[in-house]
Amino acid sequence: MEAVQCSRGLGLGAFEMEFVRGVKMKEAKGREIAASAERNDVLISSHAPYYVNCCTQEKSKITGTIRHIFSSAQATSWCGGTITVFHPGYYQKLGKEEAFQAAKKVLLMIKERMDAAKIKCMLGAETVGKKSAFGGLDEVIRLHEELGFVWPVLDFAHLLARGDFPCKSEEDYRRLFGTIEKRIPGYGKNFHSHFSSIEYTEKGERNHLPISANVPPYKPLVKMLAENGIAGRVVCESPRLEYDALIMQNEYLKYA
Ligand SMILES: [Zn+2]
Repeated sequence: MEAVQCSRGLGLGAFEMEFVRGVKMKEAKGREIAASAERNDVLISSHAPYYVNCCTQEKSKITGTIRHIFSSAQATSWCGGTITVFHPGYYQKLGKEEAFQAAKKVLLMIKERMDAAKIKCMLGAETVGKKSAFGGLDEVIRLHEELGFVWPVLDFAHLLARGDFPCKSEEDYRRLFGTIEKRIPGYGKNFHSHFSSIEYTEKGERNHLPISANVPPYKPLVKMLAENGIAGRVVCESPRLEYDALIMQNEYLKYA
């Protein structure tokens, strides 16, 4: 709750709760957060635990993945949030198509549990940063095409590091949104994304860096978003969270 007030105090309009090490939220606390978010006009989302893998073939890991993503969606909806972001998984020994079908099956099981509990929350499939991970741009778009309750979440640093999309210039960013819009009409009215700079190798991501590292650059992104009226959320994931979020927001306001 303090975090919600603090976000508003800083002038930030969105807050992503980090359940990355597990969901410990209780319903009563969640309802308080929802009320505070509404009062302060802050949009809530969350990041589900890191230790999930929708492509896994191990029974106990499938159960764990379902439980973690379900709990994250449930806690998010208590808090008045509309989307919980998750890392889709790893190919391990599976081919790309097998990994896709495995993930689809697990996501359908999560959705079934959510429906039974009357939980409305989008499952945000984040574009991953490593070549060994399932969740490239094309895969998260296809997840949405086949499962409407999955919403692609763009991690611009990951797109660059994995080689899924060059995020270097205003034109690159415009093409990126254009490509998605063709397959998901309306995506640019309600996109969800993560931003930070990144250090990477030929295998993909290594570390997140402050946005001042400029890989990928944030200035052409915010300019392109503002000038094209693309609406949604950019959650700053740099090691200097609020500081960098404000820098990005101020840059955005120059054009908005
Ligand atoms: Zn993430």
